Amino acid sequence: MTEKIKCLIIGSGPAGYTAAIYASRANLNPVLYEGMLPGGQLTQTTEIENFPGYPEGVTGFALMEDLRNQAKRFGTDVRNGVITSVDFSNDIKKVIVNDEHEIDADAVIVSTGASAKYLGLPDEVKYAGQGVSACATCDGFFYRKKTVAVVGGGDTACGDVVYLSAMCKQVYLLVRKPYLRASKIMQERISKLDNVTVLFEHEVEGLFGENGVEGAKIVKKRNQADESHFDLAIDGLFLAIGHHPNSDLFKGILDLDEQGYIKTQSGSQQTNIQGVYAAGDVADPKYQQAITAAASGCKASMELISYLSKKE
Ligand code: NDP
Repeated sequence: MTEKIKCLIIGSGPAGYTAAIYASRANLNPVLYEGMLPGGQLTQTTEIENFPGYPEGVTGFALMEDLRNQAKRFGTDVRNGVITSVDFSNDIKKVIVNDEHEIDADAVIVSTGASAKYLGLPDEVKYAGQGVSACATCDGFFYRKKTVAVVGGGDTACGDVVYLSAMCKQVYLLVRKPYLRASKIMQERISKLDNVTVLFEHEVEGLFGENGVEGAKIVKKRNQADESHFDLAIDGLFLAIGHHPNSDLFKGILDLDEQGYIKTQSGSQQTNIQGVYAAGDVADPKYQQAITAAASGCKASMELISYLSKKE
C-alpha cells in the first residue's frame, strides 16, 4: 500500500538532519531515509574541530548522533533504507524504498551527499583510517610535525597542501601530469611554501608500513622511456582527486551540472522541479563543509515549508 506523507528527506548527513529539524518543528512529520551510510561522510572522519558550538571538538559520529537525536526529538521519522527510484513528474512525488515500499510525498529534500574519489588501490582499503584520508581538514591535525603526501593537481589538492603545510613537517604534492590544473592563485600560494615539494608526473602505486603507512611506492613518468620507481617515506597519504556527487538516482530527472551536482536556482535550494529541493554536498561543488551543508539543509526546509503552506 502506498504511504502518503508531506515531507520526505533523502539522506542523513548534516544537510538532511538539519532539514529534518526544521521540517519537524513545523509539524510536517518528515520521514528521513538514512541511505547506505547513515550519518553520511562525517561518520567516517575522526575529530571535527571546525563545527561551531563544540569548543573542544566533536567526533563525526557524535555530531551526527546529536543531529539525529535533535531531529527525532521533534518528531522526525528516521528510517533505515535506500531510495531506489523516484518519479518527480507530477505534483505528488513518488519514490520507492528498497525496491518495494512506495511513498507519495508532497515535497522532497534531496541531501544524498558526495563521495570522495579514491585511486582504486587495494592498499587504500588496507590502510583506511591508518594513514589514508580523503579529508585534509578532518584528519590533517593527526599529522602534525609529520611528513605527508597529497595526490591531485586541482584546487582541492592545492588547498589541502596549504592547510597541511601549516602543521606538517613536509608536504609532497604528487601530480600525475607535468602541470597543475589548479587556479593560478593556488599555484602561486603553494610555490611560496618552504616545506612543500611538488612532484610532477608522479603517481602512487602502493603503500607500505607495519602499523600504518610508512611510505608510498611511486612511479615517475609512467609509460615513458625514462620511467622509474622509488619509495617515498611518508606518514600519511591524502587523496584530493575530486568528489563525485551521489546523484545517479536523479539523472534525467533533476538538472545536474557537468560534474553531476544537482543544480539549484540562484540564492535558493529549489531544483528545476517545484517541490523538490537539494541541499548539502550533492548540490555543492565548492564548499563541501559540514556547516555549509547544515545551512543549506535549513534553507531547503524553510523553502519547502513555505511551498507547502502556499499549496494549502
Ligand atoms: P579537480 O577535478 O579540479 O581536480 C582533480 C585533480 O585530481 C586533477 O589534477 C586530476 O588530474 C587529479 N586526478 C584525478 N584522478 C586522478 C588519479 N587517478 N590519479 C592522480 N591524480 C588524479 O577536483 P578538485 O576537487 O580539485 O576541484 C573540483 C572543483 O571545485 C573545481 O572546479 C575547482 O576549481 C573547485 N574548487 C574550488 C575551490 C576554491 O574556489 N577555493 C577549492 C576547491 C575546489 P588531471 O589534471 O591529470 O586530470
